[in-house]
Amino acid sequence: MTDRLPGFNTLAIHAGAAPDAATGARATPIYQTTSFVFGDVDHAASLFGLQAFGNIYTRITNPTNAVLEERIAALEGGTAALAVASGHAAEFLTMHALMQPGDEFVASNKLYGGSINQFNHSYKNFGWSVAWAENDDPASFEAAITPRTKAIFCESIANPGGVITDIAALSQIAKKHNIPLVADNTMATPYLIRPLEHGADIIVHSATKFLGGHGNSIGGLIVDGGSFQWAGDARYPMMSQPRPEYSGMVLAETFGNFGFAIACRVLGLRDLGPALSPFNAFLILNGIETLPLRMQRHSDNALTVAKHLSTHPAVSWVSYPGLESDRYHQLARRYTPNGAGAVFTFGLKGGYEAGVKLVSNLQLFSHLANIGDTRSLIIHPASTTHRQLTDAQKTAAGAGPDVVRLSIGLEDPADLIEDLDAALGS
Ligand SMILES: *Cc1c(COP(=O)(O)O)cnc(C)c1O
Repeated sequence: MTDRLPGFNTLAIHAGAAPDAATGARATPIYQTTSFVFGDVDHAASLFGLQAFGNIYTRITNPTNAVLEERIAALEGGTAALAVASGHAAEFLTMHALMQPGDEFVASNKLYGGSINQFNHSYKNFGWSVAWAENDDPASFEAAITPRTKAIFCESIANPGGVITDIAALSQIAKKHNIPLVADNTMATPYLIRPLEHGADIIVHSATKFLGGHGNSIGGLIVDGGSFQWAGDARYPMMSQPRPEYSGMVLAETFGNFGFAIACRVLGLRDLGPALSPFNAFLILNGIETLPLRMQRHSDNALTVAKHLSTHPAVSWVSYPGLESDRYHQLARRYTPNGAGAVFTFGLKGGYEAGVKLVSNLQLFSHLANIGDTRSLIIHPASTTHRQLTDAQKTAAGAGPDVVRLSIGLEDPADLIEDLDAALGS
């Protein structure tokens, strides 16, 4: 082998993994154990003091999860990663490492509905407040920044679909104000967009979606881009101040460019506890092995279906950046040249009632609240995921009453089109 870095397809299969040292098992084993035997008392002491890397207890580290962590760090081009119980846990632990009571962050208004809830309501219990900015207007992010702002949060391809974020523009603002840019890369996955290359500092994932890819496991990931300088920055005490529970260790100094990932693990995961089951880590690893193949097929199928719907008489508009007529097409060509992903929205001329009827009539599409399955999925956000929002919030989040969201799976596109046509009554 030369010094050349392996390609994306190779990393998706091999990064972080090796034949099992004890048994030779080629697939990554599921280390389904709560705890790990210490070599001796000194070994135990060095593990607890963070002087040695190793396993103590699966809430904090586990060898199956470690392979998943190394793999996603390699695919995103980060310095380290942390596997957690869900995408929401990844967002929460990220914010826990960045924010103190009374702090603020600026978030894009085009987000997964669950993130909007988490930010607006549950975060209040921690004294964290969110300021909303218009995803397509980078200046609105800058205008919302105050001296208490500790982060900017966006999605690379935004939920419920069809929005491409200008990550580089947001990164310029974040860098100007010396705050980290956090990108939720769930919808794109690193196959379509690698946000660190466009200036993001931290990535969060719901691995539940395309990374796992088969609709069978909830999981989340945090990737440390290694780009933000925490050391000496008193605004970020979790990384920059001495930790009493680790004999005064300063994580950003001891761990350098992966100090953020360590803080999320040894402070966040240790104390708040949303650990990923090794069994789920195994399933998500299996999913990632075929990520490049699946994401390409998801995107190709989505483009075929979007083109069909854009000429359908019952459809008033289709929002898919892969379509040349789409307002995000230029951004899509720049950020996601391989394809614009699986998820998109369209509008029904018949409004709310037509949306309810469509989801009830489909045979092949599953009506459920998820994306990123091999199976094609449909949801009418106004009557489900976004129903708790006000009408204005719904429309701002791209989930007005006439909007239907599809997550196109890996079936034959002709079958998907036939199902949609039949249910739309054409
Ligand atoms: C699903 C999702 C989440 C939340 O992830 P869970 O694994 O369901 O907790 C966060 N962000 C985006 C973009 C999502 O699609």
